[in-house]
Amino acid sequence: MSESKKFRLAVIPGDGIGKEVVREGLRVLDFFEQNSGGKYSFESDFFPWGCEYYLEHGKMMDEDGVDKLRDYDAIYFGAVGFPGVPDHVSLWGLRIAICQGLDQWANIRPVEFLPGVPRRLNHPEADKLNWVLIRENSEGEYSGVGGRNFTGRGPGKEVAVQSSLFTEHGCERIIRYAFDLARTRKRKKVTSVTKSNAQQFGMVLWDEVFEHVSKEYPDVETDQWLVDAMAAQFVLRPEELEVVVASNLFADILSDLGSALSGSLGIAASANLNPERRTPSMFESVHGSAPDIAGKGIANPIGTIGSAALMLDHLGLQEEAEQLNQAIRETTRQGYLTRDLGGTHNTEEITDAIIDNLGKIQ
Ligand code: ATP
Ligand code: MG
Repeated sequence: MSESKKFRLAVIPGDGIGKEVVREGLRVLDFFEQNSGGKYSFESDFFPWGCEYYLEHGKMMDEDGVDKLRDYDAIYFGAVGFPGVPDHVSLWGLRIAICQGLDQWANIRPVEFLPGVPRRLNHPEADKLNWVLIRENSEGEYSGVGGRNFTGRGPGKEVAVQSSLFTEHGCERIIRYAFDLARTRKRKKVTSVTKSNAQQFGMVLWDEVFEHVSKEYPDVETDQWLVDAMAAQFVLRPEELEVVVASNLFADILSDLGSALSGSLGIAASANLNPERRTPSMFESVHGSAPDIAGKGIANPIGTIGSAALMLDHLGLQEEAEQLNQAIRETTRQGYLTRDLGGTHNTEEITDAIIDNLGKIQ
C-alpha cells in the first residue's frame, strides 16, 4: 500500500478581500483532497497576521514569524492593506519580509486571457494570448536602501534617497530562470526589460548579464526593451510576448497592466518561489486587499484559485494543477463572471462552478 502524502500549508489570509478569496482557494484544495483516493491531504495552519494584527500588536507578524514558516511545504497568502495603516508598513512588515526572509527570489506572474471574459484589449487572436512575467523579487528597486531627512535643515528642506540595488548574482539567477522556463514553452523566447538609457548603473549591469547568459541558450530567441516602450508593446503587439523578465518594480507595474488587459486584476495569479526549494514558496493573487469591495462577497476568487494551481504544480501535483486551470477556463467560458468582469455572480458562485467543472473533468 502506498503511503498518503501530507502537505503542510501555512495559510495567511491577511486583510480585506484576501480573507474572502483564500477561503475559496481552500475549498478547491478540499475538493482535491477528497477526490485523491487517499493519495494526499492538506493540513493548514492559519496565521492571523496582517493589518488588524498590526493595529492590536503594533507589528504585522510575530518577530520570529519568518522562522515559524520555514518548515511548511508552501505558504498560501491572501493580501495585506487596510485604510489607516500606511501601505509601506503593511507591505514591508509582512509580504516583503516573508519574500526576502525566505529568499523567494523569483516571482512568477502568468498573464492569461480566459475565454468568455470581456477584455480591454482589442486583439484579433486574444484567446490565444498568454505570456509569463518573471519578476526579480529580492533586490532592485525594493531593496530598502536609502533614508530620509538627509539635510536636517528643517521643514520644507527634506531630502529623501531611495536607491536600487542590483547584484550580478541576483540578475544572473533570475535571468537564467527566465531562460530555463522559456525552454519549456512552445515558443522559446525571452524578453528583457530595463531602463538602461536613464539608469546607468544597475540596469546596465542587468543588460550585460542578460547578454552574457543568453549566449548559453542559443536555442532561445531574445529581445531587449526599455520599460516605457514595453508598456506600449503590451498593448500594441502582445502576441510577441512569451517570457518577459524584469526588475522588481518594472515587473510589478507591468503585471498590473497585463492583468488589466486580460480583463481584471482579480484573475491574475502569482507564485513567489525559492527555486532551489531550500525554503517554502508563497502563492498569492496579484491584487491587493481592495478595501472598496471587501466584505461584500463579490471579490473575484480566480486570481487566488489560480495561485492554488501554481501551488499544486510546485508541490508535484501537475495533473491536478492542469485540471484546475482547465476548470477555471471552463467556468469563465460558461459565463460565470464576477462584477469586475461585467458579470453578476458572487465569489462563492464562481468557486462552486469551478468545483463543479473539476468534478466533470476528473
Ligand atoms: P492594496 O492597498 O492592498 O494594494 P488596493 O486598494 O490597491 O489595495 P487592489 O486590490 O490592488 O486594491 O486593487 C485595485 C482595485 O481593483 C480594487 O479597488 C478593486 O476594485 C479591484 N480589484 C482588485 N482585486 C479584485 C478582485 N479579486 N475582484 C474584484 N475586483 C478586484
Ligand atoms: Mg494595490
